[in-house]
Amino acid sequence: MNRIINYLLRFLLGVERASAYCGLIGYTSNPNHFKRYKLVIIPSRFFDADIYGTTDSLPRLPLVEIGDVPILFGSAREDEVDGTRIVYADLIASAYFLLTRYEEIQHRSLRDEHGRFPGRQSIPFKAGFIHRPIVEEYGRLLRHWLRQAGVEIDEPKPGFRKIWLTHDIDAPFYCRSVRNVLRETVRGCGFVQACKYFAGPLRQDPFYTFPWMLEQDQSVKKVYKDRCEVVYFLKAGGKGRFDRPHYWLRSPDVHALLELLKSYPVSFGLHTSYYAGLRPTQVSSEKETLDHVWNLGPISLNRHHYLSLREPEDFDKLIRAGITDDFTMGYADVSGFRLGTCRPVKWINPITRQMTSLTLHPLALMDGSLGDPKYMGLDAQEALSYSQALLNTIYAHGGEAVLLWHNTSFSSFAPQTYHRQLYMDLLETILNKRK
Ligand SMILES: [Zn+2]
Repeated sequence: MNRIINYLLRFLLGVERASAYCGLIGYTSNPNHFKRYKLVIIPSRFFDADIYGTTDSLPRLPLVEIGDVPILFGSAREDEVDGTRIVYADLIASAYFLLTRYEEIQHRSLRDEHGRFPGRQSIPFKAGFIHRPIVEEYGRLLRHWLRQAGVEIDEPKPGFRKIWLTHDIDAPFYCRSVRNVLRETVRGCGFVQACKYFAGPLRQDPFYTFPWMLEQDQSVKKVYKDRCEVVYFLKAGGKGRFDRPHYWLRSPDVHALLELLKSYPVSFGLHTSYYAGLRPTQVSSEKETLDHVWNLGPISLNRHHYLSLREPEDFDKLIRAGITDDFTMGYADVSGFRLGTCRPVKWINPITRQMTSLTLHPLALMDGSLGDPKYMGLDAQEALSYSQALLNTIYAHGGEAVLLWHNTSFSSFAPQTYHRQLYMDLLETILNKRK
C-alpha cells in the first residue's frame, strides 16, 4: 500500500516536484510519528482488513463537507500537535475510492442493459458532484493545509494539459452495400435515393462526415500542436448485434477512408467490440488485427464500444494485450468525471491493490450522453452550456479535455441535429483559451 499512498499523494499535490513534498505529509494515526511531518492525515478505517471490500467500506450520504468540498471518508476535524497540522479528512481513501472505480466492485449487480455501471447510481452523481473533478479539489485542500503548516507550494497552472479530439468509428457509411440498399428500399429513403448513395461518390454518403471532421480538428491542432491529439478508434471484430455494422479493410470504401485519415496527423486506437467487452480475452486478437492486418500497429490506445468496459478488472486484459492508454472512462448516461479527476491517472487495481502501468484518460464529453433522451436529453443550448462549463473546469485545473464525437452525429440523419454547431462551438471555446 505504501507505493499506492505515495502515488496518490503525488497525484493529489499535482505540481512539479510533488515527490519533494510527500515526505512532509504523514498518513498515520500513530501520535509518536506526528512530529516527523508538517501535515498528518489521519486514516479512516477504509483500508482496514475487516472493512475493505465490505459494505461497511462504502461512504454514507450526505457526505461531510470541508468548505464546499465533499469528502467520502473521515471528518472535518482539524488539530495541531506540537507544530504539526493534523487533519481527519481521509483524502487518500476518498481519492482511491474514486480513481479505482471501487464502488463498481462493491455493486456487481448494479448494471444497465449493456452490463455497465450506471453513472446515475454512482456516489459522485448521487452526491451532486459528477460535474466536478473532486480529486483536484482534494489536491487544492491538501496544498492549502501544507501552506497553513508553513510549506511554500504553488498552485498548478491553469490550461489544457492536453486536448484529445477522439472519434469512434462505429458506422463509417450509411448506404454503401447491397444490404444497405435493400434496407433503405424496404424502410428508408427508397430505392432510387439508396442507389444514388450506393453508386455515388463516397463524400455524398450521409455518414461520411470525415473530411469535415478532419478540417475542424486541424484548426485546433494547428494552434495547440503537440498538446492536441486527434484519435480515430477503429473496430476490428465483434460478433454481437451491437457490433454491427462490421467493416473490413478489404472494402474499397474503408480503404479510401483509411487513406484519407492517414493524410492528416491523426492517431489510431482500438475500438474494442461489444463482444470483446463481454469476453475480454478477445481484446488481444482485435488489437492484433489492427496491428498486422490493418498494418496500423503497434496500437496502444483503446476505447470500448458502448463504453462497455464493464468490470474494473477488465483493464487487466487491456494491459496484457499491450494497450498502454485507455479512453473509456466516462459514463454513457451522464457526462462528467467518472474517475473524479480530469487528469490522466495510472490505474490502481482495487481487487489486488496493485499499481499498474495502464494510464486512464478521463472521458469528459460524449455526444450521445448529452443529446440522447435516454441519457441527459439536453437541447442545443443546454448541451453547449453544460459542455462549456466542463471545459472551463478542466482548464482551471490544468487537466486534459477528452472529447468524443461520432462521425454519425454530424450527419443530417443524426437524431440530434445540433452536433455540428455544438462541436464547432466547443472547439471555438478551446481555441479562445489560447487567445
Ligand atoms: Zn462505438
